[in-house]
Order: sequence, then structure tokens, then C-alpha cells
Amino acid sequence: MNAEVRVRFAPSPTGALHIGGVRTALYNYLFARKHHGKIILRIEDTDQSRYVKGAEDYITNALQWLGLEVDEGPEQGGAYGPYRQSERRECYKKYVEKLLEEGKAYIAFDTPEELDAMRERLKAAKVHTPQYNAITRVQMKNSITLSEDEVQARIKAGEPYVIRLKVPRKEEIRLNDLVRGWVMVHSSSIDDKVLMKSDGMPTYHLANVVDDHLMKISHVIRGEEWLPSAPLHVLLYKFLGWEKEMPQFAHLPLLLKSDGNGKLSKRDAEKQGFPIFPLQWRDPETGEELAGFREAGYGPEALINFLALLGWNPGTEQEIFDLEDLIRSFSIERIGKSGIKFDINKAKWFNQHYLRTTPDDRLTEYLLAAARERGVDCNRNKAIEIVSALKERVTFPQDFWEMSKFAFVRPEHYDETLVRKKWKGEAITGLDIIRKNLSEVEDFTAESIKTAITKILDEAEIPLGKVMPGLRLALTGLGSGPDLMMIMQILGKNEAITRLTLALENIEIKQ
Ligand code: GLU
Repeated sequence: MNAEVRVRFAPSPTGALHIGGVRTALYNYLFARKHHGKIILRIEDTDQSRYVKGAEDYITNALQWLGLEVDEGPEQGGAYGPYRQSERRECYKKYVEKLLEEGKAYIAFDTPEELDAMRERLKAAKVHTPQYNAITRVQMKNSITLSEDEVQARIKAGEPYVIRLKVPRKEEIRLNDLVRGWVMVHSSSIDDKVLMKSDGMPTYHLANVVDDHLMKISHVIRGEEWLPSAPLHVLLYKFLGWEKEMPQFAHLPLLLKSDGNGKLSKRDAEKQGFPIFPLQWRDPETGEELAGFREAGYGPEALINFLALLGWNPGTEQEIFDLEDLIRSFSIERIGKSGIKFDINKAKWFNQHYLRTTPDDRLTEYLLAAARERGVDCNRNKAIEIVSALKERVTFPQDFWEMSKFAFVRPEHYDETLVRKKWKGEAITGLDIIRKNLSEVEDFTAESIKTAITKILDEAEIPLGKVMPGLRLALTGLGSGPDLMMIMQILGKNEAITRLTLALENIEIKQ
């Protein structure tokens, strides 16, 4: 690549950043780093009605948590600032005026009622997508149909107006998308989009194109939902005389539900109980709470690895990539066109992988913190032991506590239904034999405990299945939980024997 690579991540602060947006940020980041270019964070906040307090901070915190550092942005500054569109009003005005002067845009005074009436009229005439366009604009109230004097008089009188793009009636607009190839659109399918609203704020389309140009953006990498807007943007570049420096476009494939049926949605994720936002979010106005990957126990490395492969593939069997590997391997050519199923189990798989490769010391901290939070005494040695025993089985850091909490408190109650059903005859005999023989098991690990217990019960001719529920009951008071042999290993020999003894003494025998 010859010219400097400059890409931007341009979210609108309208709420929590959806996971699709995080993937867009990641791909921009990888592309910038790969080509020793720059990544810019630009906050697209021109739509004041959709602005949500705290959303910009959320975006910044999410990027920071993921380790996706930007080079220029509202906090970092840079030579092309300001980086919030609401602070750039002046930049847009100049270009709208230029378009007006050159007859490429026009002023329109139509009220919402008049616009509705126009749509109704067209619908009645069987036009199925009524538009404000080359055909209809001549029947509306705008600077094309009104005299110059009248336009000026209306403006002077304070009548609200918008500025619309004068889209040519017959023109083929083409763009060569780096992911999708040639996209061709006829201008008759594009309406005369509003460029400047009556409050003097630019719309997304104008601000986006002007800023990409002024910020010298070389590549626009964004979600596929923006593909329909791209021809309009191409037209704007052309009208503004910037066609030669137009950035290249790459539209990323959609993220789909796990069954491939439709777009991944918030409702769907909630129903199935998984997050689709990087961090937890509480909407300051509605009070709505959204679950975050971070709070659910996912690590940033796992989320990045997972997202990197949702749309891009390395062309090899390799699945594990850290950020450095990704920077090295990433290329736009290997981004696919078709939608990608969002499989949360894959995200869990990555999380499991990264937890396993985390040093025990750090994992121990999770367990110690969980114990501390609950006012439970846990010394470091015990925590290390537990962590190394469970490391291969956990998916999330909080699993360490969930799977080992029984070790810190002896059962005070025993599940009554289970006592009634399972605490009898052969089970009790079996448990008593186990209790007596357990002290002889030398290497007290899950595996050797299992071998020993199987052998002991075999010799006594008592089926293992008859005894196991009682054993779990005696050790934890519960009917289900983590692997029983692992529980014994974590308890240690003495504690296991003590709990067995206590249960045999205290549980009333049900015959
Ligand atoms: N502000 C748009 C968004 O929220 C940016 C689209 C683009 O990257 O052009 O996604």
C-alpha cells in the first residue's frame, strides 16, 4: 500500500456498543496496525435525538478493555480534530454551501404533513417506494420550484428548512467494494437525501463523507448495514470534487443468529442468556440493563480471538490467535461475503483456552477474591491447590468458586428428598467401607480416588451407582454439583473422611 493507511471507527453514541460494532473496531484496528497506519475514533453524534449520556464513555471503556488503542480521537487528540461531529458543525456548512451554489443541493421547506401527503399521493398512484426525488421534487416546496426571492423571504421569516442532495435522475453509480466486489446502483433508486437538518446539524451521510475526506481516511471498513448508503456517499464524493481521493470501501458481513436465521439480535441473545455487548450497560434513561462479556467472565483475548474469526479466516486450520498474530495474518481479502453465525459456544471454547493458559498465580487471585467477597477464609496454598485441580474444567473465572465453594463449609443440612431416596441399605454399607479404607489411598487425586473406590466397592460387591449419590450427599449435602472425585481431591483426605463420618453419624437412616 502506497499512501498512508488511515482508518476510522465511527460509532454513534446511542447506547451500548453492539458486538458487531466491536468487530468493526477490531478489523479497523488490525488493518491499521498491519499496514503501520493510523486508527481514528470518531464520535458520530449529529443526531441529538438519539444521543445517550454515557454512551461515549462506554465505547472508550470497551475499546480500552479490549486493548484496542486508537491513535487519534476525542481523548487522544490529533491533527484532524475535533473528533466529535457535534463539535465540527462549521466544517460541514462550507461544503453544503458549495453544493448549493453549484446546484447540486437545494433548500426544501416542506412540512412533515406535506411530505406525508406526497407519500400518500404516490402510494395511491401505485408507486411502491414513494420518494422525494428527481420526479417528485418539482411538485414540492423547494428552491427549485420557488423563486429566489421567495426562498430568501421564507428564510428571513424564520421558516424551517432542510438542504437536500439533488440526486441525478439517470446515472449509474459504481463502487468496487473490497469485500463484495463491484456494486452498481442506479441513481433513480436513491432519494434526495437530507444533508442538513432544520436545526443546522448535518445528517449522517454528509458528516460521514466530509469527515472521511478531511481526516484523510484511506479505507472505510464498516458493517454491511451501511452498504446501501455507499452509492450515495460515492455520489457525494463526486459532487464535492473528491472522487480521486475517495477512500476504498470494505463492508463486513452480517452477524447472524446461531441457527443462521436472521440478524443477531439483542432479544435473541437475552432469551438464550448470552451477552452481545462487551461491557455491562445500564441505560441512564430507561434503566434497561444489558449483560456484558466482561462481567460474564470472558477475557479480552478470548473475545478478540472469537470476533476476529467472525467474518475473517486465516485460510489455515489455525484458530488460536493473539492480537499480535492477528495483526500479522489479517487481510481484507480473507473477509467473506456471507453472514456469519454467532455461536456463543465457540466464544466459551476460546475463553476456556485462554483461562487454561493463564498462570495459576493469576487464577488463584480470582478464587481468593471470590472467597473474600463472601467473607470466607481461604489461604493461598489451598487456593493454588484448588485452581490447579480445576483449571482444565473451568470456562469462566467465577467457576473456580462455584465448583469449589463446598470445600469451605461443611454441610449443615442434607438434601431431604435425596436422603429419603438414596440413604439406605447398600449405600450406607458402601459409604462406611469407603470411609474405613480411604486413609489408605496414597496419592489423593481424583483419578486414584476413583480407582480405589471402584476397587473397594467391587470387592464388597456393591454397585458404584448405588453409593455415589450418598457420597455426594455426605460430602456436600447436595444432590448435584461438580465431579465427585474432584470434590474429594479438593477436600483432601482428612476432610473427606471427617465429612463421611459426620454424615454417617448424623443422617437418619431411611429404610
Ligand atoms: N455512525 C455510523 C454507525 O454508527 C458509522 C457508519 C460508518 O462507519 O460509516 O455505525
